[in-house]
Order: sequence, then structure tokens, then C-alpha cells
Amino acid sequence: MIDLHAHTNYSDGTCSPGELLELAYRKGLDALAITDHDNLNGYDAALALPHPPSLRLVCGIEITCRMGRKAPHLLGYFFDGQPAPEFREWLTGRYEQRRDRNRRLEQRLRELGYDIDLAQVEALGRSMTGRPHFARVLVAKGYFASIDEAFQRLLGEDAPGYVEHEAPSLAEAIRRVRECGGIASLAHPIRLALPDEEAFLRGLKQEGLHAVEVFHSDQPGHRGATYFEIARKLDLAVSGGSDFHGAVKPRVDLGCANVENWVLEELLKIANR
Ligand code: AMP
Ligand code: FE
Ligand code: ZN
Ligand code: FE
Repeated sequence: MIDLHAHTNYSDGTCSPGELLELAYRKGLDALAITDHDNLNGYDAALALPHPPSLRLVCGIEITCRMGRKAPHLLGYFFDGQPAPEFREWLTGRYEQRRDRNRRLEQRLRELGYDIDLAQVEALGRSMTGRPHFARVLVAKGYFASIDEAFQRLLGEDAPGYVEHEAPSLAEAIRRVRECGGIASLAHPIRLALPDEEAFLRGLKQEGLHAVEVFHSDQPGHRGATYFEIARKLDLAVSGGSDFHGAVKPRVDLGCANVENWVLEELLKIANR
């Protein structure tokens, strides 16, 4: 079994890279991709740690994109272990944009009367601080009963505290991943609630998409089967993972998407073409 979608506390997960490796080992996984949102720091940290030879650690990332009011996610996998240096330069630029937006978000929340301090939020979110970390601090301070409530009443796209930030289109993200030596897979398509999934994926394939995430904790049984059929029809590869986030998503355990090893083997074949 493998898991090609997992987060550390370098984005919005709660496990450190070391804890995640330890958990992957305990679950008996053969491969684990660390796919933090928009940064490689959790992967870099994991790479520096001793890990069992039975576990293949894959360099991954989950890039937040923009499509109208939706925020599709693109998974990038760098099976050689490292993307080309331009990829990290691109991420650094995006990180600066995010910091700027977080300063504006802090300002907006203060104007709305919330006593919130970006330093405290960044202590949780580190290099990938975002709304989930603002939500956690607001809950800890007693403003809201839950993270969900914080999003519904304050931080969500339609709520008064929403502050937008820039994100690339899926086409741009696919191009960056490809140009820097990676494999691009559309993450959890179910969340996009698309009217015509096949047409959408056909379009992305024309942009260079390699694969689609078929196995995912949000896509049980028949939904996964539907994506599998579409992928086969369009000659797209498939990927899969739990989207493990640790304690913030307690129902999703590492390895719970039951992804078999052939998925990785198929992706590796494409990567080596
Ligand atoms: P940001 O990049 O700072 O705009 O935050 C986006 C992140 O917020 C997404 O990756 C989601 O994990 C999280 N998020 C968005 N909407 C919700 C929600 N309603 N409840 C919990 N988390 C959410
Ligand atoms: Fe996340
Ligand atoms: Zn995602
Ligand atoms: Fe994810």
C-alpha cells in the first residue's frame, strides 16, 4: 500500500515530518508522498531525517490554483527527488504574495474587532500560514466554537473577513510542474462539483495534465470508479492518497485510501518516458 497525498505541519497538517514518517512506517506503507500546500519545506525536513529503507519517500506538492470562485488543487510529483531550481524560485514568489495577503487579513480582522496577532497565527502555520491557522487561533481565543464556524461566519469566501489572494490557473501550475520535471495530477476532482467532468479533464489533458487523483478519502466507492473510467478513457494516469491532515481531520487516517503499488509504478513509467 502507498499514500501519495499527505500533509505535515509545514502546511495545514498537525504531524511533524518525523511523526508522519513514523506513522507511515507503522502503517507498513511502501511509499509516502508529502504533498504540503504550496511548499516543499516539510519534504525537505523529512528528507534530512533517517527513514526506513522499506519506505519510499516521494517529493510532492499540492498547488492551490484559482478557477473563478473555485480553488482547484494540483498535485505535483517529482520522482527524482527534486524539482528544477526554478520551481523553488516560483514558490518563493508565491510565498511573498501569501505573506502580504496575511498581513491584510490580520488588518481586516482587527478592523472587525477581533484581537488577533499574525505572529501567533504564523507560529502555527509557519511557511504556509493561511485561513485554517487564523481559524484555529480564533477558536482558541473563544470567538468561535469550531473551525467550521469560523469559516462560515468570518473567513469563508462569502463572509465579511474574506481577503482574496492571487493564485495561478491550473494551466499555469501544470506548465510549471511539467517544465520543472514533475508529474501533474488533478487533486480530488469531486470537490470541484463540475457539470461535465470528462470534458473538463479532456481540456486539462490538452494543457499537459498527466494524471487524476482517483483514490481519495472524499471519493469513496462509485465516485472513485467513475474517475477511474474517465481517466482510462482519456488516457490519463491515476494517483491516489488519503489527504491526511492529522488531528484537524481525525476521520482521515494515513493510508485510508488503500492505494495499491501499481499506481506508483504506472506514474514512474510516465515520469521516465
Ligand atoms: P487560504 O489559502 O489561506 O485562503 O486557505 C485555504 C484553505 O482553507 C484551504 O486549503 C482549506 O483547507 C481551508 N478551508 C477553506 N474553506 C474551509 C472551510 N469551510 N472549513 C475548513 N477549512 C476550510
Ligand atoms: Fe489542506
Ligand atoms: Zn487539496
Ligand atoms: Fe491535500
